[in-house]
Order: sequence, then C-alpha cells, then structure tokens
Amino acid sequence: MNFIDLTEQQEMIREEIYRNISKVLDHGKYINGPEVVELETKLAKYVDVSYAVGCSSGTDALLMALMAYNTGPGDIVFTTPFTFFATAEVIQLLGATVVFVDIEPDTYNIDALKLEEVVIKTINESSLTPRGIIPVDLFGQAADYDEINSVAKRHDLFVVEDGAQSFGATYKGRKCCSLSDIGITSFFPAKPLGCYGDGGMLFSNDKELYEKLISIRVHGQGKDKYHNIRTGLNGRLDAIQAAILLAKYEIFDDEMILRQEVAGRYYEGLCDFVVAPLVRDYNISSWAQYSILHPERDEIISKLTEKGIPTSIYYPIPLHLQDALNHLGYKRGDFPVTEEISKKIFSIPMYPYLKAEDQEKIIEVISEFR
Ligand SMILES: *Cc1c(COP(=O)(O)O)cnc(C)c1O
Repeated sequence: MNFIDLTEQQEMIREEIYRNISKVLDHGKYINGPEVVELETKLAKYVDVSYAVGCSSGTDALLMALMAYNTGPGDIVFTTPFTFFATAEVIQLLGATVVFVDIEPDTYNIDALKLEEVVIKTINESSLTPRGIIPVDLFGQAADYDEINSVAKRHDLFVVEDGAQSFGATYKGRKCCSLSDIGITSFFPAKPLGCYGDGGMLFSNDKELYEKLISIRVHGQGKDKYHNIRTGLNGRLDAIQAAILLAKYEIFDDEMILRQEVAGRYYEGLCDFVVAPLVRDYNISSWAQYSILHPERDEIISKLTEKGIPTSIYYPIPLHLQDALNHLGYKRGDFPVTEEISKKIFSIPMYPYLKAEDQEKIIEVISEFR
C-alpha cells in the first residue's frame, strides 16, 4: 500500500497527457506557453476569481504574494505555527518578522479570536509594523476567512490564503484560493491537484496586484523582459507541467467526490477509536491529508508499519520550535494547542483511488487501540 498512489490516475489519463505534452514539443514554447495561459484561465474560472498567475511552486507563490505587498524588513506577518515550513520561511526570506498565533483545537487552523488578541498586543507593544496575515487551509479545510478578513480589515492588514493543500475545497460555498486578497496553491505532485514536478498558482480579483505578480514572476519586468521596474524572481511555470495539469483537471471534480467517499469510510470506521478530523458544516475539505489524533500514536504507527501500511506525521515539530526560527525567541509552552496536537497527530493513506478493502485493513489495525 502507498501513502498516496496516483498510478491509477495516470492510467486513466495517460493518452491525454501524451497528447498534451506532444503539443508542447510541437510548438516549443516551454516556459509560460499557451498551456499556462489556458490553465490560468480555467482555474481562475473554477476558483471564481478574475486573475490567476501560474508560477514555479507553492513556496514561490507565497513569496510572490508577499513581494506584491512590498513586504520587507520592519514588517510583521502573522501566521500559524502548525503548517509546512514554507509558510513562515517566505516571511523570513524577505526580512520581515513572523508572529505566530495558536490554532483551533478541532480544525488545527489559525484561531481567529486569538489572532485579533495577538494583533492588538503586537500593535501596542512592537516597534515593527503589522502588515499581513497568512492563514493556512490545513489538510484541505479552509480557515475561518469571514473572521480573519474582518480582523484584517479592522487593522489594515492584507490576507494571503495559503491554499497549498485546499485547492478544490469550499468555505461557505466559495472555493478555496478565492477567500482573501490573494490565494495561492501548490501543484507539488502529492497535493490535491498535482503536476509531475514543481508548480503553483496565485489567484486574485485585484487587477493592480495581478499586474505586479505578472511582473514579479519574470524578474520584475516592465514593458518587456529587458526593462526591469522592480526586483522579481524567475518564478515561471513550465508549459509541460501546465499540459499535465490540464489533463488532470479534466477528472479533478470526480476525484473530489472520491476523496469525500474515502474520508466518509474512514470516519465511519475510526470515529469511535480516534479523534477523527472535524470539518465545519459550512466547509468541504479537499482532503489533502487524513489526519487523526491518538495518545498512543507512536505505537499505532509501529503496528501499521509492521503491516506494510505507510503513515506520516504532519507536523512533528511546530514551527515556533524549529531551529531555523530560534531567533524569534519562542519557547515550548508558547502555543499549547499546537504543541499538544503535534504530539498526537498522524496521517494515514489518502487519495481518490484508495480501495475500501485497504481502508478496512487500516481501520482494523487502529481499532485495536481503543
Ligand atoms: C506544500 C505546501 C507549501 C509549499 O508548496 P511547494 O509547491 O512544495 O513549494 C506551502 N504551504 C503549505 C501549507 C504546503 O502544504
């Protein structure tokens, strides 16, 4: 059994992938080619925003979003300590300061009530300037954007939605990646919509931000490539990756339905033995991960490994306790909810084509630890 197995997906669309790649070989526009534009158009429509910008990865998408707001030294960006390192990394990379806010105990997403407390405390006590918030839609479930956006509005902060795990998910009927000023996603192969390499995309309704992002993507270009009006990046998406994504996008809606079914079967089988994921009634998750809590996590993982069932821990070390962020001065005990969850959480195989029989095996092993 694999943690994420996309061989069945590939078999279904292999012909389409060959056809699409072959078109790229024929036209030879390997970078930012017509497939990139077609993908941007389709995904902007899917997410229901005016503009989409394909780029080199989810990490670069976050970086570009912060660059579009001229984030830099002296600025503060708030985020969650319970996420993939990239979310905080990009803030630090631009010389800005990360301020963490603890998570909700049931969704593991940034706690909007605590967010406002931390923002007010920071405004009163820090000499630095609060600029923005990066909420993360962890494991595929949206954070609470109505609350977060109103905190942002009250304190004049931008909001960049880290939807690296939530493409395809919805919040109160609206698609993830459309829930704030800029939304980003990742096409890393294991994400809900993944390519066969690195890729990412930014989404926005703001024309001015869109034009900045287009410029930042290609070395801060102005009128053309050799006219530079700002410092940018090489942040482009390959046409071959867009070609692969166009083939995968055709079956993406079906896969979202399959993911709900897989999650439903896990819930039925596991909810009596573990803390199963809680999805708020106004949310639909894209189930990037199926993550459960159990005090005997390490024993369960050993038992599953023995039976050939792979698991992962997202995330074993909260970001405020990472060596690379030592200088921020956080210590153990600063974010008790995050720390508690990180000790008990682990993720089990999750992908659209996971078989009910395999899920039964997984449930059987876990149910021994009641
Ligand atoms: C995967 C991920 C990223 C980074 O995406 P890449 O495409 O791998 O650079 C950022 N944030 C979160 C929450 C992620 O899960």
